[in-house]
Amino acid sequence: MPQSWLVGKKRRSQQSFPPITRSEFAKYLERARATQYVRQPELAMRDASLLAFEFLYKTRVSEGVGRIYPESNRKDLMLETVDFKDVYEGVKISDFQIAKVKDTDVLRLRFRVLKRGRRKRICLQCQKRNAQDSSFCRFCGATLDRSKFDCKLREVWAFDSVRLDDPFVTYVLEWIEYLAQPYFRCSKCNEKVRITPSESQVFTCEKCGTQTTLSKKEVRRRLNVARPDSKVWNIGRQRAWQIMNALGIMNHTQRHWRATQLRDTHDPFELKEALHRATIPFEYVHHTESRALEKTEEADKMWQG
Ligand SMILES: [Zn+2]
Ligand SMILES: [Zn+2]
Repeated sequence: MPQSWLVGKKRRSQQSFPPITRSEFAKYLERARATQYVRQPELAMRDASLLAFEFLYKTRVSEGVGRIYPESNRKDLMLETVDFKDVYEGVKISDFQIAKVKDTDVLRLRFRVLKRGRRKRICLQCQKRNAQDSSFCRFCGATLDRSKFDCKLREVWAFDSVRLDDPFVTYVLEWIEYLAQPYFRCSKCNEKVRITPSESQVFTCEKCGTQTTLSKKEVRRRLNVARPDSKVWNIGRQRAWQIMNALGIMNHTQRHWRATQLRDTHDPFELKEALHRATIPFEYVHHTESRALEKTEEADKMWQG
């Protein structure tokens, strides 16, 4: 049945999209976990963990897999070119930590967020940084009418904790544990068989005694990731997006689940504030009119005493 992209687009925008609740999201996770990778079955764990990570920590794909922030060849107002490149490698195994917050066991994560600083005017004479609107250098007094600009990125560590007993956390933990101690499943009894450095490349299942031979390359590949500074998701953003798309998760799906999280976790005051200030959250929350309204009314009532 031939369909133009416009038809699909139109239909999607006309449909009211239901909020993505946790039980709805669990289906996406299950789908990711059931992905059949013929040569590397463990990658299904990777996909599911990436998805769970995004949901739990309310992050973006790029905060998980890392990204390059290029700013090269950006022509600025003046004749000069601003040059910098910043690479964030993404979340590493050591960035996860099991900790306790107020007697609750949590999986704590550290990830890097980049914040853009103020634009500064660089004095051509002494190379020092001045406020963007200054006309004279406050260090050497030179006129700044022909100067260049720069804008520094500041690196900020963000921390976030989620409850260890959250069922979605198991998807993240499963993958980290695999990375730290790789294994494969016994073809006969499905028991975990640990991959350890070995000359013979023959691994014996402890339960049923079945012997499996892995290639040298395979053993090396699986052991290679078991270092604390290894990336948790060793893929680029493009690949991560491919994975998401294959699972049926589009940009708007993510906005919906974030909007649902927003609706479910914010108190009525905060939500009311957010809806007043921004149109995008409103666009996405308004499909769940009754809930949003309820919260707003609740806030109004509290306000009036
Ligand atoms: Zn100067
Ligand atoms: Zn076995």
